[in-house]
Amino acid sequence: MSADELFLGSDGGDAAYREAMGRAVDAVLDSFADGDDPYSGASPDALAAQFDDPVVPEDGRGLDAAIDEVSERVLAHSVGTSNPRCAAHLQCPPMIPGLVAEALLTATNQSLDSFDQAPAATVLEERVVGALCDLFGLPSGADGVFTSGGTQSNFQALLLARDRHCDRRFGRNVQADGLPADAESLRILCSEEAHFTGKQAAHHLGLGERAVVTVPTDDDRRMDPDALDSTLAELDDRDADPFALVGTAGTTDFGSVDPLAALADRAAERDLWFHVDAAYGGALAVSDDHGHLIDGIERADSVAVDFHKLFYQPISCGAFLLRDGDDFEWMARNAAYLNPEEHDEAGVPNLVAKSVQTTRRFDALKPYVAFRALGRSGLATLVDRTLELADEAAELVAAADDFELLAEPTLNAVVFRYRPREGMDDAAVSRLNAAVRSELLRDGRAVVARTDVGGVTSLKFTLLNPTATLDDVAAMLDAVRDCGSDVAAERGVAA
Ligand SMILES: *Cc1c(COP(=O)(O)O)cnc(C)c1O
Repeated sequence: MSADELFLGSDGGDAAYREAMGRAVDAVLDSFADGDDPYSGASPDALAAQFDDPVVPEDGRGLDAAIDEVSERVLAHSVGTSNPRCAAHLQCPPMIPGLVAEALLTATNQSLDSFDQAPAATVLEERVVGALCDLFGLPSGADGVFTSGGTQSNFQALLLARDRHCDRRFGRNVQADGLPADAESLRILCSEEAHFTGKQAAHHLGLGERAVVTVPTDDDRRMDPDALDSTLAELDDRDADPFALVGTAGTTDFGSVDPLAALADRAAERDLWFHVDAAYGGALAVSDDHGHLIDGIERADSVAVDFHKLFYQPISCGAFLLRDGDDFEWMARNAAYLNPEEHDEAGVPNLVAKSVQTTRRFDALKPYVAFRALGRSGLATLVDRTLELADEAAELVAAADDFELLAEPTLNAVVFRYRPREGMDDAAVSRLNAAVRSELLRDGRAVVARTDVGGVTSLKFTLLNPTATLDDVAAMLDAVRDCGSDVAAERGVAA
């Protein structure tokens, strides 16, 4: 291929782009037309065997051939995120406005680290961040930045919390001088259902996972404020130094939401940084019916919200919001080639100093296009429909003799077990559900998650497709039953 056909900006390149993008769109749509199961069932070995020719051949075969190959080898064996029977993880069907925005942002390749690499994109990201701060009820002076997702947002929250605390308590500038001698006593509090990235961040921040103290939850898997009080009292007795309290709005397995207002009270009393991990549940902010579930989030010092989950945007897309934008100072730096100090003085927007990334995607365009195209009410309809389907699915599971519903859904996760015979012991149920879940992936009719509840392997639907119906849920339950019989037949026992 000549350079003219490889780059935009010439007649030849522009025509090649139009044609190739058309082929790419056809390849995607053809992959959906190829059978209606969410997965082909291919095993890791079968997939590896397809890629036995050199990744870097001496001579290229042209783009058309490469696209055809990707269709056959990759798209045909991708998990069908847009299929209504794909309901395993918080991996959403990407909405078309987001896919369009993705095409626009990659073609223009703006980089958000400096204004001169992304003029309109920089200003728009700031506008979108401002709108998000308003959506979550944060006061004026709040600020934020787009991130790769909840992992990065949670990390950034705990980084700023740690460094502010170390400055105030020890007069230590961690950015310049590293951790203080007393760092061993620093503690982060979160519930026992909180996402693992809290512990991961503690490790990355040099505090160690041990610094994370988990607080027991109530029967609905929400942090118990009384248990938080006793945990804080115990930490006092041990001379530990808690500096951050993480509330979760939407736990991964059950979608439970911590009592954020009660947590905000404790954080205020104890001068803790209050971070809300709303990677999953943040989308409730657009919903009239369910928005009350995250009341109290407006009191957070920082918020993590993901758009690649319940906001239906393509991966990756998240935001980190900060109650007091001045707290970005704990990580700010100036580089002569990107954001010299004289630019700060002249008011040139400077996003690189707010991010742990340097070169950074213009992901803010995706929620922007979605918000503009659908409005708040349009998004609310999708979120509400998804949550409603989860309630209907839970009823269906609860009504079936051979299934056991483990909790009423708070959001859109339905956790259950297949227990075809009454009196089956937990160990047998664990083995059966684990085997069913592997068999389902080989079968391909339904993509379902597994998790552990009280030490017993269980199954989970994460319903994220607003076009899915109760019939789709019933078909997934039937697929579980069929796979259960197959597993039993293989083992020569009656399921
Ligand atoms: C998904 C999720 C994360 C991790 O976010 P990524 O976007 O995968 O980096 C963290 N916390 C919660 C509650 C989540 O749902």
